Amino acid sequence: MIESRPCKTALSRSTLPGLAYSFNPYWGCGHGCLYCYVPDVMRNVMPSLRWGRDVFVKENVLEILRREVRRKPKGVVGVSTATDPYQPAEKGLEVTRRALTILIEAGFPVSIQTKSPLVVRDIDLIRGKKIDVGFTITSTDKEFQRKFEPGAPPPEERISALETVSSLGIITWIFYGPIIPGYNDAPDEMERIVRLGAKTKSKIIYDRLNIKPTVIQRLKTIMGEDEFNRRHSLREQFARLEALCKQHGVRCEFAFP
Ligand code: SF4
Repeated sequence: MIESRPCKTALSRSTLPGLAYSFNPYWGCGHGCLYCYVPDVMRNVMPSLRWGRDVFVKENVLEILRREVRRKPKGVVGVSTATDPYQPAEKGLEVTRRALTILIEAGFPVSIQTKSPLVVRDIDLIRGKKIDVGFTITSTDKEFQRKFEPGAPPPEERISALETVSSLGIITWIFYGPIIPGYNDAPDEMERIVRLGAKTKSKIIYDRLNIKPTVIQRLKTIMGEDEFNRRHSLREQFARLEALCKQHGVRCEFAFP
């Protein structure tokens, strides 16, 4: 279900590393990842929103953004931090595209994060601007995507989009997270992601599961108690990833140091 709702702000102050603001054109996300912790935050803001099924477009967000870019100090805008800016709804609605135009004209640097090749549509806007593009690549295995990210594009589409964007000289990065032991941490899997980082000159940002009540509830439908409890022991995986990155000359860092 796609509906629109009015919003009060467009640029929110961000505490995420490297970002001054976050811009989220939608509430909800059609990608519906089972490990997503945003629904937990949204539970209080918008209790009726069914994660992965409902998307609410912020109907007046562009009007507010136009006003805010005139009075707020310049800083990097994360597009997006609580939704995917290139989820299916964006294809017809183009809210992200129009927001990018406003941000670019106002001189705000932008950092995009997505799982969708739809970002390639906006290359005409992005190229040559102060914009970097991050692709979340949790796994190169379609089965992982089907299980954990049922509404998101398959890995090969993300990989191909990353290669396209990088080949155009745009700064790219890979978000490898969350790493879930037993599902996307195998040595060969990790090596494929690191090699992709080397090929596309992309930094790798890695992350662990962010455990929230809704995440536990959703993941327990596909993970057993034992598997779920193993989530804490990631020291070995992180060390292995960092060693691989060093070996392949890829910069890498933990998402929330
Ligand atoms: S794409 Fe991002 S925001 Fe959307 S459901 Fe997945 S993790 Fe959450």
